[in-house]
Parts: sequence; C-alpha cells; structure tokens
Amino acid sequence: MPVNVMPAPVQDELNVYESAEARFEIAARKLGLEQGIYRYMKYPEREITVYIPVALDTGQIEVCTGYRVLHSTVRGPGKGGIRFAPNVTLDEVRALAAWMTWKCAVVNIPFGGAKGGVVCDPSKLSKSELERVTRRYTASLSDWFGPERDIPAPDIGTNEQIMAWVMDTYSMHVRQATTAVVTGKPLDLGGSQGRREATGRGLMICCNKAVQKLRMKCDGCRVIIQGFGNVGSQGALLMHEAGYKIIAVSDVSGGLYNEKGLDIPKLYDWVYVLRKPLKEFDGGEKASPQEILFRPCDILVPAATENQITSQNAHRVNCRILCEGANGPTTAHADAIIEQKDIFIVPDILGNAGGVTVSYFEWVQDRQGFFWRESEVNDRLQDVMEHSFDQVVLYAQAHSVNNRTAAYIVAIDRVARALKLRGFYA
Ligand code: NAD
Repeated sequence: MPVNVMPAPVQDELNVYESAEARFEIAARKLGLEQGIYRYMKYPEREITVYIPVALDTGQIEVCTGYRVLHSTVRGPGKGGIRFAPNVTLDEVRALAAWMTWKCAVVNIPFGGAKGGVVCDPSKLSKSELERVTRRYTASLSDWFGPERDIPAPDIGTNEQIMAWVMDTYSMHVRQATTAVVTGKPLDLGGSQGRREATGRGLMICCNKAVQKLRMKCDGCRVIIQGFGNVGSQGALLMHEAGYKIIAVSDVSGGLYNEKGLDIPKLYDWVYVLRKPLKEFDGGEKASPQEILFRPCDILVPAATENQITSQNAHRVNCRILCEGANGPTTAHADAIIEQKDIFIVPDILGNAGGVTVSYFEWVQDRQGFFWRESEVNDRLQDVMEHSFDQVVLYAQAHSVNNRTAAYIVAIDRVARALKLRGFYA
C-alpha cells in the first residue's frame, strides 16, 4: 500500500529535524514507499542522552549534556560525527543522524547513520577540559560504539585529536587497541591519507561535474564559500588550485570579498599558521558572514552550518550552482524558491559525502591493517563521487524531480531494499 500522507507540515522552519522529515516525506511519497517500511525508516532506531560530569581546571564540576542517535543500522553499522557546540539539541542530532543514513546510501557505502553531540563551547575549554569531556562522553557510550556497531567521526567543534581520545578511551574499555572504532583520526593512529581534505575534495568533484553538465568552465568560475573550517578551507584550497576564482569566504567572525579572487593559500596560512582572524586578512574588502551568501557568483558553497538559506532570504541567492558543504544549510521552506530560480542544486547528502566516503576507506584500512597511498584514496573517492553524482542527476532527469528529491529517493530506495531482504526480526 503506498504511503498516503502529505509532506510533514514544517511548523518551525529552523527546526532541522522538521526540515529533514519534510524532505523524507516528499521522497517517500514519490517512491510509493509501503506504509510499514515508511514508518520504520522515519524514526531513529535508538537515542540516548548522557549527563557528563567534567572537572574544570579550577576544580569546579560542570555537567554537560551529550546525545547519540542511531538512526539506522539496516545497511551496516551506524556512522556519524560528534558535534561539540553550545547550542546542540536532540532534534538537531536526530536530523543529522537521519541525513547520515541517506548520505551513506547515496554514495552506496555499507553504513547506516548516526550522530552525536555534546552541549559545550570548545573555544572556552582548555585542552585538558576538552579531553575530559571527550573521554567521559566516550566512556558513557562505550557499549554503543564499536567498529561493527557505531563509528563516530569529527564534526563541528571536534577534530583529529578528539578522535584520538575517543579511540584511546574505547580501547581502554575493551582492553585492546581498536583503531576502527572511530574515523578522522591522526595519520599516526590509523588515520587515512586524504581524510582531512576529503569533504572539500568531494565538494570540488561535484562542482566539476555540475560545471561540466551546465557547459560552463572551471577556470575563472566565480565561487563564494561560507565557512572556513575543515570543509570550507580545504574546499577553497583545492578549488583555488584547480583554477576556480574564490571571490568571497567567511567564517563566524566575518567575511572577505575580492572580485579579482582571494589568495586562498595565503589566507589559509593567515588563519591556520599565523592564527589570525580571517576578517583581518588584508586581501579583500570586509563583508558580513551572511551577506556574502547573496553576492552574485557562479557557485555558492555554504559550508558552515544549518539554516543559512531560508524562506526569508532565498530570493536573494544569486548563483548558477548551489553546492551544499554543510548539513542542512537550506531550509525545506527555501527549497521551492531556489527551484523556481532554476539553480542547479548539489544537495548536502551528496555534496558533502566525500568525508564519510574516505571515513569508510579509513575503516576498511584499519580493519585490514593495510594502508593505501594518497593517490589511491583520492582516485577511489573520485570514482564514488562521480558515479553517485551521475546517478542522482540521471534519476532527477528521468523522473522530473529536483536533485535533492532524487538523492533522497536513491537513498531511501537502497535502504528499503536492504530492509526487505533482511525482513523484520521477531
Ligand atoms: P568546522 O568547525 O571545522 O568549521 C565551521 C566553520 O564555519 C568555521 O570556519 C566557523 O567559523 C564557520 N561558521 C560558523 N557559523 C558561521 C556563520 N554563521 N557564518 C559564516 N561562517 C560560520 O566544521 P566543519 O567540519 O568544516 O563542518 C562544517 C559543516 O560541514 C557542518 O555542517 C558539518 O556538519 C558539515 N560536514 C562536515 C564534514 C567533515 O568532514 N568535517 C563532513 C560532512 C559534512
């Protein structure tokens, strides 16, 4: 029996869980998903809240709230990052966990979806406080995590060092060194070549494909990137090297604009070697982080955080290609406005899937104890991304849906087929 429901009315446009659900509903309806399968896939398998006591350097005890949501293990163990941010909510983690399920299915890697979050401000914690938060969170979840159960990775506010602490804490609990329990680790601890650049590289591969499809040229193509963290900065470096002209970038503190193109390697050193504020770089005119989203460009890459393009501002977006690096940068309410503007969308579950793809390679390498050259990692990533891009675009054309709905349909269909083969236990 096909699903007979209207798309979920999004009550609160900025609630990312509602946004994720609305897209799921649209795709499930187009796919004619059976009622029972639909119900099963709509909800997470399990979710947990943990309260983490942390001794601050002053000796005072603080309690941080932490979450882990396992959305699906239908196609393999859960996979998804851990976010450290002051405003993390359970709804946000739920949405991110569901997106991981669809993302892994779009690129056809054998993982389900999960996500974690800890309500804390890493910029206000010392290194040792951060280590204690990480270790206690991991210890609380040591029964959930595991190379065959649920494999965390970095996300906003977490990095390679934090992943090393996760690996060590888990290994102490299970009494054996278990590198494959977490990805995005340092190279010296079972990390993969190319992982740091992977999400940015995946974005660039999608941009290359989109540019080719629209018969444009990469060389001199004007790009704006919001966010200069792992995804934004690596994407900017790679795209700059490939001949794209990065005319604006921003981070949370401010933005920079230069019509002739910013010197991205210099800016990268400014921010990451000299540790200076991005907005003080002297190679472009200052702009607000939000405003740069609306300057005219060929490719817009939101690579910072959720809810940047909304029903209130989508009409101001002025690009030919919208390639989403962040998770959920466009709200479900804004989708129709973007579609009317005939913008070619590379949706987040495809655009930023390069990260989890190389995380999968890292997990494979750790389990084999055999490591690949960087060129092998990059070649395999390129294969996966190009093939996935082609499948989504082909599906969109064949079924007259936009690329976002096509990506969800490809993903939901793969999970549904695996679920039917497994059947429902007991
Ligand atoms: P990060 O913490 O390394 O960087 C985030 C960047 O965004 C920082 O430069 C920050 O200053 C900036 N920022 C935050 N709010 C902003 C705002 N309002 N305007 C402009 N800039 C702002 O995080 P990241 O790992 O680069 O992740 C960025 C996004 O990509 C997130 O949505 C994350 O979930 C997603 N993502 C990350 C990966 C990965 O491999 N790291 C993979 C897939 C998706």
